[in-house]
Amino acid sequence: MMNVQPIPTASERINEIRALTADIVNKEILPNENLLWASRTNRSVTESDLEASQEARRDIETKVRQAGLWAPHLPQEYGGAGLDFLELAYMNEVLAYAVGGAALFGVVAPNSGNQTLLVKYATEEQKRKWLIPLIEGKLQSGFSMTEPDAPGSDPRSLRTTARRDGEEWIINGHKWFTSNGKRADFFIVMCRTEDPDNVGGGNGAMTQIIVPRDTPGVHILRGINVWGNESDHCEIVYEDVRVPIENQLGARGSGHQAAQDRLGAGRVYHCMNSIGQMWRAFDLMVERSRDREVHGGLLRTKQFVQGFIADSYMDIQASRLMTIHCAERMASDQDARTDISAIKVFVPNAYMRVVDRAIQVWGAAGVSGDLPLYAMFQGARTLRLADGPDEVHRILIAKNVLARFDGGSGWDFGN
Ligand SMILES: Cc1cc2nc3c(=O)[nH]c(=O)nc-3n(C[C@H](O)[C@H](O)[C@H](O)COP(=O)(O)OP(=O)(O)OC[C@H]3O[C@@H](n4cnc5c(N)ncnc54)[C@H](O)[C@@H]3O)c2cc1C
Repeated sequence: MMNVQPIPTASERINEIRALTADIVNKEILPNENLLWASRTNRSVTESDLEASQEARRDIETKVRQAGLWAPHLPQEYGGAGLDFLELAYMNEVLAYAVGGAALFGVVAPNSGNQTLLVKYATEEQKRKWLIPLIEGKLQSGFSMTEPDAPGSDPRSLRTTARRDGEEWIINGHKWFTSNGKRADFFIVMCRTEDPDNVGGGNGAMTQIIVPRDTPGVHILRGINVWGNESDHCEIVYEDVRVPIENQLGARGSGHQAAQDRLGAGRVYHCMNSIGQMWRAFDLMVERSRDREVHGGLLRTKQFVQGFIADSYMDIQASRLMTIHCAERMASDQDARTDISAIKVFVPNAYMRVVDRAIQVWGAAGVSGDLPLYAMFQGARTLRLADGPDEVHRILIAKNVLARFDGGSGWDFGN
């Protein structure tokens, strides 16, 4: 059970959301994890297991809707819970305690990120055609930005082009790691719409364009093998793909800004998710140390293990305070660019350390499918690459600090 008590400094509404979420996580999801995600364990899964799992999911989704927590990332007019930025951030840490639980609350990547993007940038007609069916679960989507032949760390260098021909865009390019690629009915594709020879040019060179999957010229080459398993992170070639200009998302040249919008708030949510998962790993580790006896004593009596507990406590608390500080700056419209980069580096690394210690304390069971730790470890390692690798964010932090000093003042850590 996750121990979630009211936070004295948080608003009443935030505490209410955390309590309602914890109630569903503790009473509905955690006791049923083996049923809900039967395939995680290596027991053979029967038809009736799958049916029972579907039924349990439907039951939980009904309770989530009754609690007013369905699709917390969406405004109420689109059937969501209409939470504000801080409310959603605080909800994420509780929700993430149950690995995979977000799907039961209507949050499934990359659809949820694309929904947020469409809410902000789509025309009324695009919303009717793509957003509403996406929310209703009638369509699936992908976000196609990263390319094998250009560094994702430097999105301005992307090579995929869209050339205007009358009332159509013609798209040519090679993308990979487009998540959900096999199931997606449409992709939001990041394209260079001007200065095709100016690789590394300005932010205004990029536009996002909606491409239906069944358009001639969309070739899905493969689901890339990730961590030893075939995945739905796909390699896709767009070859002379023609779509009407109405499929352009936002103003021409707004693609880079739109991607930043998608990623900026997303980094806070990802970090709060990581904190929820660290919290779970921490609880699992401490509980095991209280039960497991080795060499004549419980693990909790060994100083190595006490060191693990203390180090993990510090990693989680430091991550949490940094992330909440960053979220509060963003919520009050202060410049949070340095803080966003700081959490994007610190939290996934702390997450890796916390899960690594939990795995160590659990021994062989730690890397088995009986516990969520192995998936957390892979997730934490992957997070150090996705949404901007560690190095890119470190460079940004140093750049901002040095600029402050060059401007004649030091860094004010109190603000
Ligand atoms: C599981 C998974 C899912 C993904 N899903 C999507 C998706 O749905 N859509 C999508 O578009 N993309 C997706 N990505 C791609 C992800 O966003 C990119 O991998 C990421 O942006 C890094 O780009 P890259 O892989 O091209 O690495 P590169 O840009 O080639 O960077 C490689 C390494 O170079 C180093 N580096 C970079 N810049 C510097 C520097 N200035 N100084 C020093 N070192 C540096 C870093 O260590 C970095 O890890 C996904 C990736 C993964 C792993």
